Amino acid sequence: TLLTVPLLAFSLFSVAQKQADAVIDQKVKSLLSKMTLEEKVGQMAQITMDVITNGKDRYSSDEPVALNQQRLEHALVKYKVGSVLNTANNRARTREVWHQIINKIQETGKGRLNIPVLYGIDAVHGTTYTADATMFPQQIGQAATRNRSLVYKGAEITAYETRASAIPWNFSPVLDLAPDPRFPRQWETFGEDPYLITELGLQMIKGFEGNNVADPYRVASCLKHFVGYQVSVSGKDRTPAYIPDHVLRDYHLPPFKAAIEAGAHSIMINSGIINGVPVHANYQLLTKLLREELGFKGLIVTDWGDIENLHTRDRVAKDHKEAIMLAINAGIDMSMIAYDYERFCDNLIALVKEGKVKETRINDAVGHILTLKYKLGLFEKAVYDLKQYPKFGSKEFEQAAYQTAAESITLLKNTNNLLPLKKGTKLLVTGPNANSMRTLNGGWTYSWQGEKVEEFAGKYNTILEALTQKAGKENVAFVEGVSYKMDGKYYEEFENGIEKAVKAAQDADAIVLCLGENSYTESPGNLSDLYMSDLQTELALKLGATGKPIILVLNEGRPRLISKFEPKMAGILQAYLPGNFGGDALADILFGEVNPSGKLPYNYPRYPNSLLGYNHKPSENRTVMEGVYNYAAEYNPQYEFGYGLSYTTFKFENLKLSAEKIKANQELTVSVEVSNTGSREGKEVVELYLSDLYATLTPDSRRLRGFEKINLKPGEKQTITFKLNQKDFSFTHLDNRSVVEPGEFKVKIGLLSKNFFVE
Ligand code: BGC
Repeated sequence: TLLTVPLLAFSLFSVAQKQADAVIDQKVKSLLSKMTLEEKVGQMAQITMDVITNGKDRYSSDEPVALNQQRLEHALVKYKVGSVLNTANNRARTREVWHQIINKIQETGKGRLNIPVLYGIDAVHGTTYTADATMFPQQIGQAATRNRSLVYKGAEITAYETRASAIPWNFSPVLDLAPDPRFPRQWETFGEDPYLITELGLQMIKGFEGNNVADPYRVASCLKHFVGYQVSVSGKDRTPAYIPDHVLRDYHLPPFKAAIEAGAHSIMINSGIINGVPVHANYQLLTKLLREELGFKGLIVTDWGDIENLHTRDRVAKDHKEAIMLAINAGIDMSMIAYDYERFCDNLIALVKEGKVKETRINDAVGHILTLKYKLGLFEKAVYDLKQYPKFGSKEFEQAAYQTAAESITLLKNTNNLLPLKKGTKLLVTGPNANSMRTLNGGWTYSWQGEKVEEFAGKYNTILEALTQKAGKENVAFVEGVSYKMDGKYYEEFENGIEKAVKAAQDADAIVLCLGENSYTESPGNLSDLYMSDLQTELALKLGATGKPIILVLNEGRPRLISKFEPKMAGILQAYLPGNFGGDALADILFGEVNPSGKLPYNYPRYPNSLLGYNHKPSENRTVMEGVYNYAAEYNPQYEFGYGLSYTTFKFENLKLSAEKIKANQELTVSVEVSNTGSREGKEVVELYLSDLYATLTPDSRRLRGFEKINLKPGEKQTITFKLNQKDFSFTHLDNRSVVEPGEFKVKIGLLSKNFFVE
């Protein structure tokens, strides 16, 4: 009975869901039959708020509700536009203002058929465009926690606060595989491993969507960016990538596939070009693979201006009209046009009339859009009362964000157990990231590039503020040394007292050196040099020469190379972009109130020409040539994926496999005992890696196939069990078939390993 009750509940639930879906299908059909072609095409258009705010000067539309009624009516009434998204140029607003805006949009936009407008936003690490919302670490930090329930909780809170802002659709999570630290959006991802991305992506979707997106505390998620976005050859945003099919299937597709099976409601398309074909014009990827093979039933939306890009940037369409034809026929449902909706609508209507886009394709696209609007409950109630959200920005929510930050911070080096610091230690706090809320949060915070953070994050603590509170004013000196130009480009810096910092170091027992990057988002974050900036390197080297112990705190969107000064650092912590509570979490870790437990979600490279992932092919590490050794070119990252220290010690023992030989369709159980052998309580991540030792396609050196995070008191021991199955033993062959080849495999957990055979 213990089993039958949940099973029964589940099957009742899925029967109920099927019935609800059938009712919605019926409603969509009936509504579609009443719509004119103009009304349908309008549904497929999504415009930015810039268009309907103070349109005279869209680049400074800072007023809270500067909705221009005339423009609003032109877009929503005359052109019947069905969706609006946040703008590149605005800053965060209060919930009250959001309610006014969305109410106005709904009132104006519903038209003769009462169709609600679908508003979408990038609430990617909290409800990033609403003042006083709870800001979590960016996704890369969440990946470092390896904590499924924290990721779930963060998404649930974000859904609550986004709906509290009257917005039902969130352009999150990012499921991109992100093995390239040069790419400017690695921090928006769960890192370089497909399994980690899949597991945490599922939690995020569950947290956003719950069991029913019509719930006033949930939002529809949007998987992005389908697919293969972050592996461009140049390492720069929105530039060509080349991905063989079997690689696409084994590394890029699994997170999307799992998310689609879990019922995610929408998906956004990769703005880039794969194997010569822009993804927005790729019938093979959008219709054959995504719709037909993966069975995706939700809404497919473009990325920003990407239909236009087919003509102006990618040059696969000779004009805008041809671009629209290619994209809609490839399978796009909704165009994130941004600005020129007249051109989109007029051209698409003409294309249908000329028979170049079939009306059945339009019905199909609009069907997906209306279905989402019904599923979100927008037809019944598009905006809920503000009073329904008493927990918005509450202490309870803030505590969850703090906890996520605390579990994300990754201790990479701790020479002679310098950390935790003793009370009374005199500190010099220095570096451009020491006293900045902007750098703690990163991009997509209160504004697109994160440049407006200081306006809204005043009540939270920077690293310096948190350390001063913790250690006492008398124990903290601050010299910035190097500063970011706040009105310049994100990478522009200036000297701001390097010598002064060196002098101040004389009076300190230890130095907390906060280096990294200023906030940036998307293409503006492209980079030509992965090393930490020259000025920050100079600051680190000069402080290093003082001989004082230095604790390096990294606060960056991607691993900037530190090999030039790493030997001079006694302690190193990676804080990623930890959000509004990152300063507090870091201070608590430095002073030992929190035991660090984060693990790297990527390889931290040592050299610019050595950007291999942890799972690189064994042959990529071949440095021996005719007896000539080239050690400098060996696989030798600064720190490996999965690395992260604790203030206690853990012991792994008794690795056991349920069999030495199994059939491909059988399950293998792997267990290991983990104990806390140190003197304080701590969390440890147990990661299982699998290697296929020989295969017809050269295998990876290893692949993550399981992880669990556990908490152990001193002396406590726990047995962790993993199950491996066919999916874990298989790979995609050149003909796109998933195969298991009989042979020997190796399981590795910590330093323990055991081999087994698959027959
Ligand atoms: C980004 C997306 C984002 C969209 C809407 C695009 O430029 O690539 O990730 O969701 O803008 O803001």
